[in-house]
Amino acid sequence: MIRTVSLIALACAIAAPVSAQAQTAPAATGKPTVAQADAFVAEAEKAMAAASLDANRVAWVNATYITDDTDALAAKSGAEMTDLGVKYALGAARYASLPGLSFDTKRKLDLLRGGLTLPAPTRAGASEELSTLTTKMSSSYGKGMGTLDGKPINGSDIEAAMGSTRDPAKLTEMWTSWNDKVGAPMRGDYAKMTSISNEGARELGYKDVGALWRSGYDMTPEQFAALTDKIWKQVEPLYMALHTYTRWKLNEKYGDAVQAKTGPIRSDLLGNMWAQEWGNIYDIVAPKGAGDLGFDTGDLLKAKGYDPLKMVKQGEGFYSSLGFAPLPETFWKRSQITKPADRDVICHASAWDIDAKDDIRIKMCTKVNADDFVTIHHELGHNYYQRAYKAQPFLYANGANDGFHEAIGDTVALSITPDYLVKIGLLDQAKVPSADKDIGLLLRQAMDKVAFLPFGLLIDKWLSGGVGSVAAPVSGHQAAGRARRDQVRCGREISHPGGGAVYALLPGAGVAVPVLQGSVRPVRLEGAAASLLVLRQQGGGDEAERDAEHGAVEALA
Ligand SMILES: [Zn+2]
Repeated sequence: MIRTVSLIALACAIAAPVSAQAQTAPAATGKPTVAQADAFVAEAEKAMAAASLDANRVAWVNATYITDDTDALAAKSGAEMTDLGVKYALGAARYASLPGLSFDTKRKLDLLRGGLTLPAPTRAGASEELSTLTTKMSSSYGKGMGTLDGKPINGSDIEAAMGSTRDPAKLTEMWTSWNDKVGAPMRGDYAKMTSISNEGARELGYKDVGALWRSGYDMTPEQFAALTDKIWKQVEPLYMALHTYTRWKLNEKYGDAVQAKTGPIRSDLLGNMWAQEWGNIYDIVAPKGAGDLGFDTGDLLKAKGYDPLKMVKQGEGFYSSLGFAPLPETFWKRSQITKPADRDVICHASAWDIDAKDDIRIKMCTKVNADDFVTIHHELGHNYYQRAYKAQPFLYANGANDGFHEAIGDTVALSITPDYLVKIGLLDQAKVPSADKDIGLLLRQAMDKVAFLPFGLLIDKWLSGGVGSVAAPVSGHQAAGRARRDQVRCGREISHPGGGAVYALLPGAGVAVPVLQGSVRPVRLEGAAASLLVLRQQGGGDEAERDAEHGAVEALA
């Protein structure tokens, strides 16, 4: 499950109405002063705070009611926000190195300069084009359909079905149809989006968008990349053991024709639409004896008559048990907890902070299963964090960084232990696994958490080494070769169900990329994210593989 916080509510704190006037924008000539910098920051903060409310509401309506009209409104609103964000970011760059700045002014200037998710260049029409592209991709993702048994199925249902289906042919059908119908058509738009936002990033003084994103961790982009590589090296042996063991068990279940004993694991066999978390196939990999936990959280929820609302209430109960105040009444009135029957929405789970005060919400298409029970605890982690910093000045009303924002809910979700399930009446005390089942519990956890790390890293490397640093749109073959190289580098080694060893990260997936939660930079664009995660064998896969073998890949490095 990919989980995000709303782009607008969190990652893109830079928002302001087009009517906001930068009265204290730095003069085109003359040396700026500290007093001017202070005034500039105060004005920017005020304008953005005022603007964000409307922009957030527009984005919410678009995400929960996708029509041509809401797409148009969201694109317009997004373009206005981008224009304002760019204006203040450029202004901030002028003041940033001024000596004698107070801590707060300096910090806020840095936030203004680096806070945009997808900057547009200042040339006429660029922000409108960029916003239209991102809105279109996001909505295409929300409306997208794959097939199962030849019949249309939406992304939310595919996500659930891939967790429980064990028929390889059906899994392949869902995976392939989703990627072909939803991911592949985004390729051209994604390439355009990349090109425009890289141009915007360069105007702000960054090498590309990837460098802009990696600058949000209180270290240089290069230091951040080196740190993630170092940490990955520490985890890699554990991942490789998990990968090898999982491949062996899949081979045992499905046979050589479906999953070979060596080489990559077929991505559609891993129980997740993006092959990013593998816990849904725990039943296949559980070792005899120690692996038999004796219960499944999804089965317990169903047996006890939980519905999506009751699951969210239970999530709130966890935070209440820690001493947090209950969620506001508006949370229950305004959240989207289940998928509306009569319209297109973006199901991709996210947490929103509409007014930077109390109007917090989640947007999910909750299903009664273990994944979504965890996701609820995760999303609420964002909401409680948002509420915890609501008294901060607007530019500070955000996470320490986006990774930290994700970590709160994920840490809390680790508390969904057998003991917790007993405390909330889901599990009988007599069914709590004994200490000799710890191996099983840890393996179950590793299937999700350890498997995710190379996935998150791969996406980051794809962005930073591929799309993020290439001025011109990346061609399919280039992307294929790069993805292949990065797979190897990240030890991920997952293959397309079609059997090819080469895939491309679909540009469409790129939209998703920005939204990924995880080890690296989690949250960027809401929604469309997931499609991106689509590792897809290209029509010209063989050719792409030949390119890779002949060193074309390295030429891209
Ligand atoms: Zn999240």
